[in-house]
Amino acid sequence: MSESQHDPVVVAGAGPTGMTAALALRARGVPVVVLEAEPEGRNRPGSRAIYVHGTTLHTLERNREGLGKRLADAGLVWPTRRTLFRGKEVFSRTYDSPGGTGDLPHFTSLPQVETEEFLLDALAELDVEIHWDSAVETVESEPDGVRVETEDGREWETPYVVGADGAGSTVRKEIGSNFEGSQSENSFIIADVDEHPDEPRAHERVFHYDHPEVGGRNVLLVPFTGGWRVDIQCKLTDDPERLASDAVVSDMVAKTLGERYRDRVDWVSSYQFKQVTADSFVDEHRRVLLAGEAGHLFAPFGARGMNSGIADADEAASAIAVAARSESDGVARAEVELYGARREAAAEWNKNAAGEALEYLQGDGVVTKFKKRAAAGLSDYYEDAGEWLDDAPYGPRGGPPIATIGRY
Ligand SMILES: Cc1cc2nc3c(=O)[nH]c(=O)nc-3n(C[C@H](O)[C@H](O)[C@H](O)COP(=O)(O)OP(=O)(O)OC[C@H]3O[C@@H](n4cnc5c(N)ncnc54)[C@H](O)[C@@H]3O)c2cc1C
Repeated sequence: MSESQHDPVVVAGAGPTGMTAALALRARGVPVVVLEAEPEGRNRPGSRAIYVHGTTLHTLERNREGLGKRLADAGLVWPTRRTLFRGKEVFSRTYDSPGGTGDLPHFTSLPQVETEEFLLDALAELDVEIHWDSAVETVESEPDGVRVETEDGREWETPYVVGADGAGSTVRKEIGSNFEGSQSENSFIIADVDEHPDEPRAHERVFHYDHPEVGGRNVLLVPFTGGWRVDIQCKLTDDPERLASDAVVSDMVAKTLGERYRDRVDWVSSYQFKQVTADSFVDEHRRVLLAGEAGHLFAPFGARGMNSGIADADEAASAIAVAARSESDGVARAEVELYGARREAAAEWNKNAAGEALEYLQGDGVVTKFKKRAAAGLSDYYEDAGEWLDDAPYGPRGGPPIATIGRY
């Protein structure tokens, strides 16, 4: 192959993972170009990743000064977390500070479209080239580099590829890597609801076990800048399509957020969540690195999707920066191999953590039901019992032991 080590690295996909990978490569002095399947100015629906963890803000800040701070300033930190069991409050705690370290809070809540706008602006400031309408079609990896072809017939020769092209990743398929895992039994209805301009609700994250007003279904309410995420867990006997219809969703929104929100539903979708990881994050020649949803899909409880995609992107850029400057092929290979090993282990940890939350939420067995009811009963006397009910829907705290500078 004729390319030199100075040819830009190709990042496939301009989602949050791909854009972070491009910023992180530039921060390490590595030339990069982004190929994105969709057109410029596209409209991506839904709020999707709203919970941006503090370690993610720090990762973005480290790679582009001011970026983490911009996200934090635009997002909101809800001061209160609250849990109700069949309509009765079992836990509530309000914090008097946003926590975190330095200028950056413990987390911020911001719709993914806005996060993506900030990333896009940062790339524009650095003049990073993004080729829109450029879907990657083939990826041919060899020991000394990679040849990428886009659907419009253009060819790119590059020393390394970051495959950040999302769940249906062409790059993953091209390197012969496969998703392995499972899918949630229950469906979940997710709606974005616009904040009421005159009578906004207090910013609190509220989890309802068996909400009495919506047929005893679990409901999660999360505020973000400009709106609310309403997440309703269907019963196994539900028809998710019927529940996701405009009339039913508006009704459930009115019963959970308040009547004044009935006509403020902006977007609705129903999901069965996949819990899968790619069987390899790198190709046989150690020239292609999968990152983000190209490499893993998790149920959203614990907010591990975008947060871990951004951690992948940062580590992929580190590995490529060292490999590209290395004077030994063996060292270059080892760097990429290490990336694969670290991020596969992290993905497995994140998958299990999200799986724990999912299992808990779906758990319909006698023992699980008894534990939840007992904790609700004890919550009047022991705060720990209520706090357990408040924590459990998001899985274990903490992150993979392999993630040294982040939490995902
Ligand atoms: C309802 C919901 C709630 C969520 N909540 C959270 C949360 O609170 N916190 C969190 O961390 N995560 C959350 N997530 C997950 C989060 O949205 C994803 O993890 C995140 O979008 C993954 O980013 P990505 O860049 O890896 O993939 P994507 O966002 O899918 O981006 C991939 C990009 O690649 C492009 N592409 C596709 N094919 C090609 C190709 N062949 N060539 C070039 N480009 C291509 C796509 O057009 C897209 O721009 C949630 C997801 C959902 C659905």
